[in-house]
Parts: sequence; C-alpha cells; structure tokens
Amino acid sequence: MLRFAPSPNGPLHMGHALSALANEAMSAATGLGVQLRMEDIDRSRCRPEFETQILQDMDWLGIEWVPPLRRQSARFPRYIDALDRLKSDGVVYPSFATRREIAVHARAERTPLDPDGAPRFAGDAAIIGAAEAKERAATGAPAAWRLDMARAVALVGRPAWCETGPAGDGRARAHVDPALWGDVVLARKETPTSYHLSVVVDDAADGITRIVRGADLFAATAVHRVLQCLLGLPEPLYHHHGLVLGEDGRKLSKSNGALSLGAMRQAGWSADALRREARRRETPPDRIVAASLCGAGEA
Ligand code: GLU
Repeated sequence: MLRFAPSPNGPLHMGHALSALANEAMSAATGLGVQLRMEDIDRSRCRPEFETQILQDMDWLGIEWVPPLRRQSARFPRYIDALDRLKSDGVVYPSFATRREIAVHARAERTPLDPDGAPRFAGDAAIIGAAEAKERAATGAPAAWRLDMARAVALVGRPAWCETGPAGDGRARAHVDPALWGDVVLARKETPTSYHLSVVVDDAADGITRIVRGADLFAATAVHRVLQCLLGLPEPLYHHHGLVLGEDGRKLSKSNGALSLGAMRQAGWSADALRREARRRETPPDRIVAASLCGAGEA
C-alpha cells in the first residue's frame, strides 16, 4: 500500500499535487493502491473546510485513492499506546522547558541546528536549570515527551533505509545520522502525539509498504527508522521525490507566493496542464537532499 498524507491546515499547492502525482506514478508501476490520510493532529490549525478542499482537489486532478478516508485525529489512543510502550522501555522523558524558553536559550547560546534548521534541544538542565526542572516536575507542570536519542541509538543503532526510484526501480541504501536531530518531541503538552510518532504508527497499522513523499522529509526518515526499530514495526521502502521550488529557491509555500490549487483552477488552469507543470518544475531530489543536510551544523 501507498499513501498520500496531507495536513488540512491550509489549501494544497503545486508541491502537494506533485506528491500526489508521484504516489499515482508509483501505484501505476507497482499495482499498489494509494490511501488518503489526513494528518490532522494539530487541532488548532486543521479545519474541515481545508479537508473538503483537499478532497475536491484530488477529484479535480483525477487522482484515485482507496477508501476509507483516514484521519489521524481519530487515532489518538493508538499513539498514546505507542508512547506508553516507549515510556516503559525508558527511551522517552518528560521535558518542561517551554517553546519560548528553548528559543531564547538557543539564540543566546548559538545552539547547533537540526537538519530542518531548527535548534537542537539542549536539555532542560541547560535551558531552565536542573532545580527549576525538578520543581516543575514536582508540581505536575505540563510536559512534552522527548525521545532520548542517545539511549535510542544505544539500543537500535543508526538504522539505514532503502531508497527506490520513482517507479520502484533500483535500490540504494540511504543514511542520515539520527543524532543530528537530538531529542525530538514525540508528544506535546496540547497534543498527545507528534508528526514523527503518528506517522510511523500509522504507516505500520495501515500496511504501507512504500512511502512516496517529498525530499524535504528525507532526513526525518532517520528518526522514523529509529522509532520503527524501537516499536518493532516493519521497514517500508522509501522514495523521496524532488520538490517544486519557489522563485527564492526554497520549498514552495504560501509565503513564497504559491497559489492554491483551487486558485489555479479558478484562474483557468486545466488539471492536465497543472499535472504537466508540477512534473516540469520538480527539482532533482539530490540537490534538495544536499541542501536540507546543510541545515545541520552551527547556528
Ligand atoms: N503530512 C506531511 C506533509 O503534509 C507528509 C508526511 C509524510 O508523507 O510522511 O508534508
């Protein structure tokens, strides 16, 4: 099985269309069906009207998917179970530093960056002090749960994964050191899961054997492989396709002028023309992978 997994927190643009088309191409080459999964764990940003628009966009583009529609928001108990397992294995810990405290500390200390260019977590003791962390724990302050990456790596190593071409052609081992990510958040104060945790749990539960997604998620695969090993989940085959870049050379987004698919449709684009344009603008993945890895290092 394959899956296209957009987040209904805004309208889809040509980059999302490319991802859906890359799944369609893999489906045609392998005979595997494509599931549609709404990654809607962020209840404050995801909205039903964006989900409706996504369904309309899929129809308009003519991309077939295998029902039922899956929603992560209906699966919180499943993620809580997975987190409980990681808790009992002693590979996650509660963390009390707030986002604001983390950002202020990272700026002041020039914290090393993770592969997405965000500051790597320096630890509660460094950020708020060990005594304050203890105090917050004692008073039952809300906590995020973080993966203890050093312990995880000690248990499962630094697992590689297998990349395949756009039609499932060829195999190459791929590897990014998961330690570059540091102690990633697996559950937040306001959301009992995170992208990393829910995506690996769902891919296994839904029988996803091939994951076709953008090269912006190439480095995140290192975290996903660690979680798959810790949770005893099967290893899928991956294809990270190239991205559609904006005029500023960055991944297409609303902030660099990406038009929504709905707006393009209204402006007179046909689905066929949009399909061709998304394919034409796909940047070769190696360039993007190299660029995303450059994010790791000193601030
Ligand atoms: N929800 C993610 C996105 O919209 C995709 C996640 C994935 O394919 O693993 O970028």
